[in-house]
Order: sequence, then structure tokens, then C-alpha cells
Amino acid sequence: MSQKLSEVAGGRAFRDRSHLTMADILELRCVIGDCRYSSDELRYTCPVHGEIGTLDILYDYENLARRLDRDEISASREPNCWRYRPLLPIAPDSPVPPLDVGWTPLYPAPRIAQALGIKRAVIKDDGANPTGSLKDRASALVLTRALEQGFTTVSTASTGNAAAALAGLGASLPAIEIVIFVPSSAPSAKIAQLLVYGAEVLLVEGSYDDAFELCMETCEAEGWYSRNTGVNPFTTEGKKTAALEIAEQLAWQPPDAVIVSVGDGSIISGLYKGFYDLKRLGWIERMPRLIGVQAAGSAVLADAWSAGLDARDIRRRPVTTIADSIASELPRDRAKALRAVRETGGAYLTVSDDEIERAIPQFARLSGVFVEPAAAATFAGAQRAVTAGLLDRDESVCLLMTGNGLKDVERARQVVSGGTRVAANIAAVQQALKSSRCDD
Ligand SMILES: *Cc1c(COP(=O)(O)O)cnc(C)c1O
Ligand SMILES: [Zn+2]
Repeated sequence: MSQKLSEVAGGRAFRDRSHLTMADILELRCVIGDCRYSSDELRYTCPVHGEIGTLDILYDYENLARRLDRDEISASREPNCWRYRPLLPIAPDSPVPPLDVGWTPLYPAPRIAQALGIKRAVIKDDGANPTGSLKDRASALVLTRALEQGFTTVSTASTGNAAAALAGLGASLPAIEIVIFVPSSAPSAKIAQLLVYGAEVLLVEGSYDDAFELCMETCEAEGWYSRNTGVNPFTTEGKKTAALEIAEQLAWQPPDAVIVSVGDGSIISGLYKGFYDLKRLGWIERMPRLIGVQAAGSAVLADAWSAGLDARDIRRRPVTTIADSIASELPRDRAKALRAVRETGGAYLTVSDDEIERAIPQFARLSGVFVEPAAAATFAGAQRAVTAGLLDRDESVCLLMTGNGLKDVERARQVVSGGTRVAANIAAVQQALKSSRCDD
């Protein structure tokens, strides 16, 4: 192994306060080397490999498969991610945040399929989560874990959505303090959301990656629980519920491919883990190909993929894109994210900011679902995937829409035109309608 000394020194651990033992957790396994840890020495990342050595929470699948029945889960009335509680690393009776996270709608999207030129498309609308993005899934699980462990302060760095998720779900619980590190350049709607929920908000004069480092350092110094993406293995476990839902909502027949936009690579890693768990349980026959879409200006993972780089050789570099949720200079979950695509026979691809902007109204007009730029990138990426031959005409695809359009109204407003000023009388209205029809 050729890891750098600084990475070895970077291993981050915390003391487990409850010595909670969950019979079904087999072990925590490092994504880089063959390092295994037991569930009662829970850590953030592998002490041998440091920050690149993110951990998988693995279960006793044989035992779970004997005990659990997917039809029983399908019969559950819980309209949220807790319907999968037996597949999550929390105690059976742990209190969870009261808001309904997950179990978001999955819509058939025939006009999207037609526009793409493929047989079947479905949309998984994670913008319908309580705070408007998929990040709620990770925050809900991390907060449950924090409560189990007796932490009173939970903190994260974020480009906006992870912070909103933590702040909102934190506000749904009594006696949990939330501290957020966010780049001061985040869209103002996202910052407003944090402040509305009452989180302590630190506007870092720097990039998301600067905010991330600062947050990790402060968590260590102050003894707070860190929700930071990738570093905390519970984030992957929370995000995997999106895959569990996609499978269940399609009667355990996953599509040929799932497409999702990628920044830190945590969502695509979570999807991989969810489908992996289901495959190990024998509940699905095969895992869908995972196709990750990056913005051309923030394509660290896509470039590493094309170059065949090992995750350990990825270096931080400056990035820029209008899709703030997928801007990442050093994707935190890079090791798991490369694996997700490699092991499923998927791919990474990039789309330009222009394509992302165009995709916002295009997608909304073909589906009725208004998404933020980072999610519009997924639709732009699906178009590219078809042209690049990554998706066949007779295949089915799920577009995972990760964030609500109301998250970044300013950007949306810049990419659509129209709206006709009229005097407040019907003659003026009729005149305006006549001339707008002539325009068509
Ligand atoms: C966080 C986020 C992504 C990217 O997820 P990663 O885990 O960083 O790859 C995509 N879209 C939206 C809306 C997000 O909030
Ligand atoms: Zn390791």
C-alpha cells in the first residue's frame, strides 16, 4: 500500500458513548484496504487509511435474509424511510425525527422517455422531502445516531442542502443544537432556510472544501458529532434508502440504469450501498448501472474515471459551476463513488452549465417537476447518456431528482423569459393574448 503519511495521520475516531451493539451489524469495512472494525468501535474513517478510507457498514445478510421478508416491508404503512429500519444501523426502538423523510414519489415519465428516445423513464422526486432535498435522508439517520449516542450538538459543512436538512430536522427535535459551516457564496434562499430553522450559521469566507476542513476541526475540538458527508458512514446508510425505495416502488424490479448528479459522490455511493444490500438479501436479481453526472466545471470524479485514476491519486482542484450543490474540489466520497460506477458497469459523464440551465425548464415542462440546477444536471446527463450509447433505446431508466427548484429561484428566473405586463382591464388582456399568440 502506498498511502501518504498525512493520510495515515488523518484517521479520525471518536469514543463510542453507549457501546451500543447491534446484532445485525457484522462490521465496518474500509473501502480502500482490507481493514475491518467491529460496530462497537464505531469511527468516522479508517485509522490506517485516513480520510480516503471511508467505511461501509455491513450487515449479517444471511441472518437478515432469514428473518426479514420484503413483502412485509411493502405492507408497512410508514410513509417514510423508517419502513427500512431493520436494514439501518440504529436500534429497533431508537427515537427518530418526527418529520416524514423519504418515501418520496416515483412517477412514470413517458414524455421524458420519449424526449430521451428510450423505452421507459421514471422520476424519483426527492425534492419532495421535508427540507426540499435528498440530504434529509442522511440527516435523519445521523440525528437518530446522535440521539442514541447522547450528543447535543451536531455540525456539518455544506454547500447548502445538507445544512438545510440538518437544520430543519434538528429543529424538529428538542434539545439538539445545530452548527452549520457554509460558504458565504451559497444561494441566499439556502442561507435563509438555515436561519429560519434557527441553526447557528457560520458563513465561511472560502469554498465548500474550506468550510469542510474547518467544520471537521471544530467538531474534534468541541466534541460535537459531525454529519460531514463521506466521513460519517451513517450518511451513506441514510442515502441508501433512496435505492431501497426505487426498488420497492418498482415492485423489486429495478430499472436498467439510475442516473444522478454527483458532487461529493455520497448520493451515488448510497445508491450503490442500497442496491448492494438488496442484492445480498436476494431481494433483487441485479443492480442497476449507476450513471453519475458532473458539471463540466466541477468534474473531478468524471475526469478521474476517464483517466482510470485510483481514488487515492485524486487531488483537490478549483471548480466552478452554477449548480452549487455539485461543486466539489475534492469529492469527499471519491473512493466509494468510483466503486459505485465501476462495480455496476456504469459511467461518469459531464454536462455544461448551459445544458444545465436549459434543462431546468425543459424538464419541468415535460414532467411538472421543478428542480434545482444540480438536479436538472441529471436530465441533461440523461440526454448525453443516450447520445453516448450508455443507455439503449429499449432500456428503462430512473432519474433521481435530488433537489427542489424552489431552492434556487434566482437561477431559474434567469433562464426563462415571458410574462407580459398588462393594464388591469380585459381589453388589455385580450390584446396581450392576441399578440403573444401571433409570436408563436
Ligand atoms: C448534494 C446534492 C447532490 C450531489 O450529491 P453528492 O453526494 O455530493 O454527490 C446533487 N443534487 C443535490 C440537489 C444535492 O443537494
Ligand atoms: Zn483502511
